[in-house]
Amino acid sequence: MKAKDPNCSFCGRKKSESLMLISGLDGHICDHCAEQANNIVEKELGGSPELITDINSTTGEKGGKKLPTPIEIKEHLDQYVIGQDQAKRTLSVAVYNHYKRLNSKKNSKKSDDVEIEKSNILMIGETGTGKTLLAKTLAKILDVPFCIADATVLTEAGYVGDDVESILSRLLQVANYKPELAERGIIYLDEMDKISRKGDNASITRDVSGEGVQQGLLKILEGTISNVAPEGGRKHPDQKYIKVDTTNILFICGGAFDGIERIISRRVQKQELGFKSSLNREIQDKKLLSLVSPPDLRAFGLIPELIGRLPILTALEPLDKPALKSILSDPKNALLKQYQHLFSLDNIKLSIADDAIDFIVDMAFENKLGARGLRGICELILQDFMYEAPSLKGKSELIITKVIAEEKWNRADSQKFAS
Ligand code: ADP
Repeated sequence: MKAKDPNCSFCGRKKSESLMLISGLDGHICDHCAEQANNIVEKELGGSPELITDINSTTGEKGGKKLPTPIEIKEHLDQYVIGQDQAKRTLSVAVYNHYKRLNSKKNSKKSDDVEIEKSNILMIGETGTGKTLLAKTLAKILDVPFCIADATVLTEAGYVGDDVESILSRLLQVANYKPELAERGIIYLDEMDKISRKGDNASITRDVSGEGVQQGLLKILEGTISNVAPEGGRKHPDQKYIKVDTTNILFICGGAFDGIERIISRRVQKQELGFKSSLNREIQDKKLLSLVSPPDLRAFGLIPELIGRLPILTALEPLDKPALKSILSDPKNALLKQYQHLFSLDNIKLSIADDAIDFIVDMAFENKLGARGLRGICELILQDFMYEAPSLKGKSELIITKVIAEEKWNRADSQKFAS
């Protein structure tokens, strides 16, 4: 007799407790276990198994899994992130050194060993160029707890807003409240440019969003033992705290730093006064960001102590049309592959003509939507088809041509995308 509410044969979850329960000959599997099983198979058979790591050892000996080399890390990043070669190389080396440092600390017994200092990272680049994606992908490769926090929500202790410690509480949550796991994690701290000091003339009211927050960040960036409220938010007198040591947490910070090119340009021109005319336009526009250095950050409004705690500085390039096109189709989980998969679940083969892809790219570029806008445009073009598709019977094929893409774009409320 069939049970009324069957269980997953692996974890025992009831059908009512899972999203989906797939039945086999003599048992069932729930969506949760199916996903886990898929991960195990992928790790064992697919991709680059040697990249799986619990960062126990750089060699993979003595049962510890192997820490990927910088080249391996970069190769893995290449599968998900288009372009940004320089940033990828810098990050791969920085992350490799960071975890090597942790291993050497763990294995070192002598007190007179050379102590390698932590190297947090600052990434500068326009919004939507892949900063968050890079940090997220790195954490995935290394299989360490990862969280994203926004520097703009932080305020100096005592003011309305989040404490600096609230960032740690998020990481702790991801690490299942195991401080020893969280302590080897990565935190991506976004919008670092928004906490810059607003000019040198201090106002009579305190600078709640700027320098105070920067000061608050110093300690956790460098390494301190923080009392973290597991629930996050503001501290409460009778809340239980968990101690988290931030010494080994890698902070990757990011920000657009709008207008920093002007600061860089002024500095570079001053340095190259005699050769001013030789500074070609290309350097003046596009490549300027790659020349960013600590004095520019200082002029932008970051305090020197904070800059000192972010010794690795890298710039991301703005995405051009070929990069946007490649983002649409090349990465492992590229947007077009995702839509094709979505349609295939309804037995529909989706093809997008090359000129339609170019149209999507043109719209994203001309409206200054960047990579982030690509999804919105695809959604807009495919919406009607996604509405109708599930009602179609049998196998079918959908070909999106430029004419169709243009018509959908023009008919829809594309105005909301206009910059
Ligand atoms: P940022 O943090 O620089 O503002 P994100 O990393 O959040 O930008 O990028 C937004 C989205 O755009 C990502 O989810 C990703 O889909 C896409 N994207 C941006 N840059 C790239 C890139 N270089 N390669 C692949 N996808 C990208």
